[in-house]
Amino acid sequence: MFDHASYDNHEDVHLFHDEDSGLKCIIAIHSTALGPSAGGTRMWDYKSGADMLTDSLRLSQGMSYKNAMAGIPHGGGKAVIWGNSKTDKTDGLFEAFGRAVESLAGRYYTAEDVGIDPEDIEIAARQTRYAGGRIKQDGCGSGDPSPVTARGVFLGLQTAADLAFGTPDLNNRTIAVQGVGSVGGYLCHYLAEAGAKLYICDMDEDAVQHIAKNTGAEIVSVDDIYDVDADIFSPNALGAVLNPETLPRLKVKVVAGGANNQLSTSEMGAKVRDVGILYAPDYVINGGGIINVAGELSGKYSPDWVEQKVQTMVETLRSVMEESQANHEPTNLVADRIARARIAAAKP
Ligand code: NAD
Repeated sequence: MFDHASYDNHEDVHLFHDEDSGLKCIIAIHSTALGPSAGGTRMWDYKSGADMLTDSLRLSQGMSYKNAMAGIPHGGGKAVIWGNSKTDKTDGLFEAFGRAVESLAGRYYTAEDVGIDPEDIEIAARQTRYAGGRIKQDGCGSGDPSPVTARGVFLGLQTAADLAFGTPDLNNRTIAVQGVGSVGGYLCHYLAEAGAKLYICDMDEDAVQHIAKNTGAEIVSVDDIYDVDADIFSPNALGAVLNPETLPRLKVKVVAGGANNQLSTSEMGAKVRDVGILYAPDYVINGGGIINVAGELSGKYSPDWVEQKVQTMVETLRSVMEESQANHEPTNLVADRIARARIAAAKP
């Protein structure tokens, strides 16, 4: 573990196995310097336990940086559950997961991520007090964070367009959207409303047909999305999509999307910059959802507070990209430096 390439002085990493329900889960806590760790739960059919561990380490580190950049009182943590989210979900599995979260006594707060719906969080919450993104009922719960994530990504995408093309106006811009699940789906609606010409792809045929019908988007295959002759590429599926194989295929001037860990390695940030692409660092642009969850966890949820935090997040994104342009430094490294400084400053 301590030699793992993605281990970044994580405070603790927990493995849970529940024989009765079949739960296999890792909860990685990267940092609690800014407050109890918070980050969504991912359910994915990993190829191996090693892949699952790497994902949990990278995602939890990303949450530390994201929460620091979003200015919320939380450190970074993430849960990953090994399984197929279409076929392996049971109440017993999520109750066992809830007990796992509860056993950490508030060092980690969970919410939704890929493969997890508010209904799953509600089942986990039967067993734990440390869950956010709960269904809106009886005046508590802030619901699915994805629409707020998508709104932040939309505003951030306009900001990136402003810096790359000299105008935030997306009317007639061509945008290739990879993944039209929760975040990508809401984002497509915002983009279509703004007049963008959309090309979309998803492995889920129903999802892609549904979004195409409602937004007028053109469907392309999962393999062809990188080759679309577009102005902007918006990744909203999984990570590592900016890598040595995909970069030469991209014709865009901007990459801005909601997916976590878009760069396959940190060094890809410089390569993306060198070919003239403005990259909106993922954990800066996609903080809307966790801001919404943090509002709920504070016990005094207010849509106005969330909106103000999302606006500040977009201003932070602009200053990261401007600093990158002024200093000829990749955007991801500028963001990493600011996030690390904020975390270091919070340490006693
Ligand atoms: P989701 O499961 O609702 O949607 C993901 C979609 O991507 C699915 O429809 C899936 O079929 C599709 N997909 C998977 N692999 C693909 C591929 N190779 N090509 C095309 N499509 C593919 O998940 P989500 O909540 O929308 O999250 C999407 C991304 O945004 C993830 O990286 C997640 O970590 C990140 N994110 C989500 C939130 C949130 O509020 N939900 C917040 C911050 C970051």
